[in-house]
Amino acid sequence: MRGGKIIDFHTHAFSDDLAPKAMKALTEQHPEIPYFLDGTVSSLLKSMDAAGIEKSVICSIATKPKQFQPILDWSLQIQSDRIVPFASVHPADPERDEHIKQVKQAGFKGLKMHPYYQEFYLDDDSMFGYYEQVCKYDLILVMHTGFDIAFERVRRADPARIVNVMKRLPELKLITTHLGAWQQWDEVGSQIVGKNIYMEISFALDYLPPDKAKQLFEKHPADFLLFGTDSPWRDQQESLNLLRKLNLDSARMEKILYSNAQRLLDVV
Ligand SMILES: [Zn+2]
Repeated sequence: MRGGKIIDFHTHAFSDDLAPKAMKALTEQHPEIPYFLDGTVSSLLKSMDAAGIEKSVICSIATKPKQFQPILDWSLQIQSDRIVPFASVHPADPERDEHIKQVKQAGFKGLKMHPYYQEFYLDDDSMFGYYEQVCKYDLILVMHTGFDIAFERVRRADPARIVNVMKRLPELKLITTHLGAWQQWDEVGSQIVGKNIYMEISFALDYLPPDKAKQLFEKHPADFLLFGTDSPWRDQQESLNLLRKLNLDSARMEKILYSNAQRLLDVV
C-alpha cells in the first residue's frame, strides 16, 4: 500500500502549457495569495507522494461556457488511479444539460462550481435546473462556499443559502468547501454543523483557532467530513499536519482522510 489511505478532495492543476500562464496571472492579480506548486499535474503527484496522499480530486472551473470542452478533454487525458478530475459546466452554458450528460457519459464522478468566478448566487431559482441535472446523472457537485480570498465579500454562497439548496433538493450530493463556508464559520456552526451536509476542510485550519476547529469537527456527523487542501494554494503535507494536530479520534480521522471520499467516489 502506497503511503497510507488518504484522498485529497480539493486540488487544482492546469495543463502543462497553461500552468505557467495561469499561475502567473493569478499571482499578479493576488500577490498576497501564496502558492506551493507550479500548477502542473506532475508537481501535484510529487506533492502527493511526499505527503502520502493516494488520490487527489482536481476541481477545474470553467470561467466561460466555451471552456467546457477543453476542460473535459484535458480531464480525460490526466485521469488515472491517482488523479480524479471533476469537469466543469458553466451555469450560463447554452448547452448546459447536454454537457452535464456528457460529463456523466465520459465517466467522471462530478463537477466543480464557483459562485464568484461563475457569477451566481447559490440558492437562486435559476440554479435549480442545473442542480436537478446533477442529481439526474448522480454526479457529485463540489461547490466553493463562503467568501473567497480573491473577491469582494458578497454573500453568494453563505450557510443560509446552502441550507436553502439542501432543503429544496435533499438528494443533491453537494460538497461544501472550506469547512462549510470560508470565513463564515460562526454561521457554519449555527446553520450547517450537525446536519447531513458534506464539508471539505481546506483553507480553514490555518484561520481558525484549533479548539474552535475541533469543536466544529466533532459536532458534525463524521460521515460528512472530507479532507481537502486546495493545493497548489495550500501545501498538502502542511494541511495534513494541521489536521493531525487536532487529535481527533482515529475512527473519525479515517473517515475524513479516506473512507468518506472513497464511498462518494466509489473507488477502491
Ligand atoms: Zn479551490
